[in-house]
Amino acid sequence: MARYRGAVCRLCRREGGKLFLKGDRCYKPSCAIEKRGTQAPGQHGPTARRRMLQGYGEQLREKQKVKRIYFVLEKQFRNYFQRASRQKGITGENLLFMLERRLDNMVFRAGFSTSRRQARQLVNHGHIEVNGRKVDIPSFQVRVGDIVSIKGKSRKNPHVDGAWQTAVGRGRPQWISANEAAVTAEVVDLPKREDIDANINEQLIVELYSK
Ligand code: SF4
Repeated sequence: MARYRGAVCRLCRREGGKLFLKGDRCYKPSCAIEKRGTQAPGQHGPTARRRMLQGYGEQLREKQKVKRIYFVLEKQFRNYFQRASRQKGITGENLLFMLERRLDNMVFRAGFSTSRRQARQLVNHGHIEVNGRKVDIPSFQVRVGDIVSIKGKSRKNPHVDGAWQTAVGRGRPQWISANEAAVTAEVVDLPKREDIDANINEQLIVELYSK
């Protein structure tokens, strides 16, 4: 499957703020935003002035930001939007709920990894089980009652162990209940809007795709 292979810090700089794509480094002074500020990437980045975006430009940037946070490509993102618009309720929120319920996002939110990118790799490489069965599809939608765990040997992986320890400090959303002793996480509820980044304005994405 196609995926973005470039430098991820560049994406944060393009969006003008932290998207937390690199795990632990995002919280350290070595973060590119901390070191270089929010100047745009590229040759003309340092001299380019950020314009106040309005209308289409603002909508496009919001869509790009959410796509980049969840590491989803354009075609898949549009498919999510079309499915969200066919569901009952508020389309923008439905879209975010579907993105939140992706297995790779759940793995990150539960604390098996320090970033969604690392979570995607764990899923792709077959380290993740849902209800005791291996699932290697990052877009798999978790449901209430599902128990997500990491395969036996992979639990000893220092990256997974470190992420699990730091997740306690970072906190988990209320729709995930972790069993610290068993290193498992259960989906106990559906995600709610307050569990998702408040800096996202999903209405702008709805307006963009409704043109
Ligand atoms: Fe973004 Fe993290 Fe890179 Fe900082 S370290 S620029 S938050 S991906």
